[in-house]
Parts: sequence; C-alpha cells; structure tokens
Amino acid sequence: MTTTTALSEADERALLDAIDRWLVKKVAPVAATYEQADEYPHELVADMCEMGLYGALIAPEYGGLGLSASTYVKIVARISEEWMSLTGFFNSHLMMALIVQNFGTESQKAYWLPKFASGELRGGLGLTEPSAGTDLQGIHTVAQRRGERYVVNGSKLWITNVIEGDVLALLVKTDPTAQPRHRGMSMLITPTRDPATRADLPGVQRGRKLPKLGYRGIDTGEIGFADYECDAALSLVGEEEGRGFLMATGGLEIGRVNVAARGVGVARRALNEAVIYAQTRQTMGKPIAEHQAIQLKLGEMAAKTRAAELLVADAAAAYDRGGRVDMEAGMAKWFATETAFEVATEAMRIFGANGYSKDYPIERLYRDAPLMMIGEGTNEMQRIIIARRLIARGGLSAL
Ligand SMILES: Cc1cc2nc3c(=O)[nH]c(=O)nc-3n(C[C@H](O)[C@H](O)[C@H](O)COP(=O)(O)OP(=O)(O)OC[C@H]3O[C@@H](n4cnc5c(N)ncnc54)[C@H](O)[C@@H]3O)c2cc1C
Repeated sequence: MTTTTALSEADERALLDAIDRWLVKKVAPVAATYEQADEYPHELVADMCEMGLYGALIAPEYGGLGLSASTYVKIVARISEEWMSLTGFFNSHLMMALIVQNFGTESQKAYWLPKFASGELRGGLGLTEPSAGTDLQGIHTVAQRRGERYVVNGSKLWITNVIEGDVLALLVKTDPTAQPRHRGMSMLITPTRDPATRADLPGVQRGRKLPKLGYRGIDTGEIGFADYECDAALSLVGEEEGRGFLMATGGLEIGRVNVAARGVGVARRALNEAVIYAQTRQTMGKPIAEHQAIQLKLGEMAAKTRAAELLVADAAAAYDRGGRVDMEAGMAKWFATETAFEVATEAMRIFGANGYSKDYPIERLYRDAPLMMIGEGTNEMQRIIIARRLIARGGLSAL
C-alpha cells in the first residue's frame, strides 16, 4: 500500500516559498541563457533532485515526498511561471515512476522507486514512435520473451529525458498479432546505461536531441533498440503481459493534470507581464492600460487564467480522491493549455514590437505554449475523451 502526504497549509506554504526562493535566486538569472542556447541545465536538474522533486509523487516508504496532486500542481504552475521546460524534467520522470508505483510488484517497487526518488536514475515515458502517437495501439516496438529475459527491437521518437536519461518506461508489443491490439501490449522498465560508466548498454541506439520551437533546454529525442536485452522479472511491470496500454493511458492522467498546471503557469506569467507593461507603456498621452481595447484584453486574459487555475485544482482534487479522472484531467488540460496560448498571444499584442523581442519573456511564453496543446494527448483528443466520458457517466450528473 502506498501513501501520499497531505501537507498542512503551513507546510505547503513553506514548500512553495522554498521553491519561490530557488526560482528567484537560481532559475531567473539563467533561464533565458539556457533556453536560447537549448542547453541542458545540469545545475538546475541537480537542484531539483536535491529538493526532492524527482520523488515528488513517490511514496515516502520508497524515499519520495509523497505529495498530493493538489500540492504538486501548485509547484508545477510556480515553476512554469519562471521556465516551463524545468517541469518536464521531473514530470516525465514521475510518470515513469508512477507506473511502477501503481502497477509494479513489491520487489520492482523496492528496486526501482528509491533510485527514481533520489534522481540516481532519471528517465521518462517511451510511448510515441515515428508512425504512432495518438494511435498508441499502432506501435511497432516488439519485446520477445527468451527465458528470463526480454529482447527488444524497435524505435521511439519524441521522448523527453531520453538523451541525458538512464531509463525508460517503454511501451512494447509482446504479442503483435493480438486482437484487440491493446491486449498484446506491455510495459517494460528499460535501463539504457551502464550505471558505473554511463555508457549505453548493448543494443541501445541513442539518437539525436530534436530541435524544437519551444520547451527548449530539456532533451526530447529518439532512441532505437536492436536486440536489446533486459531482465524480465525487474522490467515487465507487474510481471504481467497485456496490461501496457492500460498503464500508459492511466499514467497519462497525472501527466495531463501536470500539463494543465504548466498552462496555468505560462498564462499567469504572461498576464502578469502584460498588466505591468500596460501600466508603463504610454500612447496618446496615457498608459495603454487606460485604453479600452487593452482593458478588454486584460479582462478576458484574467478571467480565463483564473478559470484554468480552478479547473486544474478541481482535476487534481479528483485525482487525489482516486479512480479514473480522464474527464477531469481532459477538461483541465484542454482549457488551461488553450488559455496559455491565447493569453501569451494577447500579451504579445499588448507588448507590441517588444513582445517579439528576445529581450522580453513574452516570446518564450508564446513559443512554449503550443507544445502543451499537443503533448500528453492532443487537445483534439481531450475533447473527444471528455465527450465520451460525459455520455458514459450520464451527462450533466458527471460534472
Ligand atoms: C516536445 C514534445 C515532447 C514529447 N514528449 C514525449 C514523451 O516524453 N514521451 C512520449 O511517448 N511522447 C512524447 N511526445 C509525443 C506526443 O505525445 C505526441 O506528439 C502526441 O501524442 C501526438 O501524436 P503525433 O505527434 O504522432 O500526432 P498524430 O497522432 O499523428 O496526430 C496528428 C493530428 O491528428 C489528430 N488526430 C489523430 N487521431 C485522431 C482521432 N482519432 N480523432 C481526431 N483527431 C485525431 C491529432 O489531434 C493531431 O491534430 C512529445 C511531443 C512533443 C512535441
């Protein structure tokens, strides 16, 4: 049985204050430099390990902080206000860890989770392939059982934490002919490096870090497996084939709540920058904040940002209560990330030419926002999921 720690208001406040101090002291001075160079921020990753963020959602008995989702989303939103990419390092990692925590055997949890919680082993979630993203059941990576081992062949694309990371939760087909297709899918925890030397293990073909519009600094890349072998008892999550699709889609729920919280952070920062700028920039003899056209923008930006924040809190609370929360997570993810993009775009208009300049933070927020409409299930799919759940749960009573 795993546990979470519901922090008292004072403890949560102290935790958020510590993160705020770190953001001001360590992150704010370097974020733009790392981001523009698209450079992996090793020192900030080390800080996040030390602060326990790589174990934020891992139960205390395995060395994690065991935070509730309600506290976690506040952390994610805060960090995203400063630099959204940073939240991807530990959230992709935690989605891998939660698969072990929620579906692993006791010995798998005892082996992997303390290493994940400390950041000794860091990783992510390997679902997407060159020909399969939304349609996860269309993946081609295959794992064949040979005695006590699995032999894996295939490739993954667009995987976060894959270039610098040590391990992946890898979605594979253990029975490529199964019908329905998801019955032939399994989840493996696959170490990719020798722990002593950090050299790639045999059969690992680490590809390139992909150049991206936004969400820079963090490594999103490709990886291949050619007759790569892993230990079946340690790697096959739950020691049961055929449940990988369920594990992947269940894991995405907290991922979606997290992406929604990132959207809140981006929207809050863009709104705040716009409010400050509108009061200092003057045209026609008065601050632009006194022009009604700008007030209409600020009013709408503020209302949508607050609504996004409330939807995220609602989804996090539902996650904390337990059970499937795909509708709540989908609503929060869709609304908050569309809001982030809209608010960043409006902030750019309010900033005029300065919104287009790398000397101001708006252009980064504008470039970071679209990822959140694509990752962890596209926003097209979120609305479809919401509608399906709404109907399955009996319409209005589902809300
Ligand atoms: C920066 C970044 C980081 C990422 N990190 C990870 C990661 O760590 N791990 C990982 O596994 N993946 C990761 N991804 C991949 C991401 O999850 C996929 O891009 C996403 O699931 C969409 O898949 P796709 O790109 O193949 O688009 P497609 O599936 O090809 O979809 C293309 C378009 O068609 C629409 N569409 C598809 N099917 C339907 C349908 N049935 N009904 C209606 N519309 C549909 C989609 O909404 C989209 O608009 C990352 C992506 C990015 C950009």
